[in-house]
Amino acid sequence: MSFDVTAIRKEFPILERKIDGKPLIYLDNAATTQKPQCVIDAIVDYYTQCNANVHRGAHQLADEATRRFENARDIIAQFLNAKARHEVIWTSGTTESINIVAHGLTKLLKAGDEVVVTAMEHHANLVTWQQACLQAGASLHIAPISDLGELDLDAFDALLNENTKMVAFPHVSNALGSVNPIKRLTQKAKEVGAWVLVDGAQGAAHGDIDVQDIGCDFYAFSAHKIYGPMGVGILWGREEVLADWPVWQTGGEMISRVSYSESSWNVLPYRLEAGTPNVGDAIAMGAAIKWYSELDQAAVQAHEKALMMSATEQAMAFDGLRIIGNAHHKVGAISFVMDSGHPADIGFLLDRQGIAIRTGDHCAQPLMDRFQVPGTARASFAVYNTLEEVDALFEALRKVKTMLA
Ligand code: PLP
Repeated sequence: MSFDVTAIRKEFPILERKIDGKPLIYLDNAATTQKPQCVIDAIVDYYTQCNANVHRGAHQLADEATRRFENARDIIAQFLNAKARHEVIWTSGTTESINIVAHGLTKLLKAGDEVVVTAMEHHANLVTWQQACLQAGASLHIAPISDLGELDLDAFDALLNENTKMVAFPHVSNALGSVNPIKRLTQKAKEVGAWVLVDGAQGAAHGDIDVQDIGCDFYAFSAHKIYGPMGVGILWGREEVLADWPVWQTGGEMISRVSYSESSWNVLPYRLEAGTPNVGDAIAMGAAIKWYSELDQAAVQAHEKALMMSATEQAMAFDGLRIIGNAHHKVGAISFVMDSGHPADIGFLLDRQGIAIRTGDHCAQPLMDRFQVPGTARASFAVYNTLEEVDALFEALRKVKTMLA
């Protein structure tokens, strides 16, 4: 299929909106992407046509709901190139996915064990491991990054040893846009026998993912950052690892046999899916991933690269603006600070011009400390953004600079 940004934009009803009479320019895609009509339709269709609980009903609606729900799992499995569909676990999003793994890890770690993360983590992939280590008496080690915002690979390697039990890192940094060499990092972690979790919250919507090729044990991502609904996401795990991973929540669906004195667990994927799942949104996530996967991926990547290049060139030429994060390999987001004002003021004044960006610490406070900034302004891109919108951002920033002066 060819790539036509004008046609793509027409699929997103919200992009027709005006903000204070000005056309919406939505550049906050790293926080959440907008949803195409087919995803909205999938939710409406589920609730109007076949709302029922899955796996347990003895009626047609339950059958249909179960088929749609499990079909969505197949779509995700294919998207990730998972070896088996039961390696795909429904969660409420990246945060819950990481928590499931970290919760299990607390039962597997012992005093003296080590966990390694990077200095560019979102809190979801930092606080979770801090807590797991605290509970188990293990220690957390932070792989440093350079001033460019790239992981220091030698320092990362030096942190790995026979005590390292878990290594977790982001596919793409939400605050800097840096893309990590996840296959290489995984290989190194595997040399010491550690489990590997990739936080794919920002990676899933920006490139091909092949979990078998990466070689990791876990890959986590959220639907809402890849054109799907909020409140649903994925924990993918390698069957051999997931099958024995300590269960997370207990209750219905995840059990095999229960007596008053003991219980045994269901097989994958259900053993990690206690309770009624978010069926409608899971189906809509399937619709989103199908929609996204049917785009010409090479064209999508070329388009997003053009947006990033234009934004980077204009930012570098902008007097009084400093990019935070200049990694050689970046995708999706550009973070910056300006001499003329605080990021929050920049965000506010851009909003007055119809431009939505994100400002603040991006749930990465230690990373902000690392760069000695209180926060940044971040513009982040999706398939429906245009080069004209990037130009409009910098035009608006020139006005912001004048206003703040
Ligand atoms: N990890 C990264 C890199 C993120 O950017 C985010 C959200 O911004 C998360 C984890 C958490 O995702 P969610 O809030 O969808 O669970």
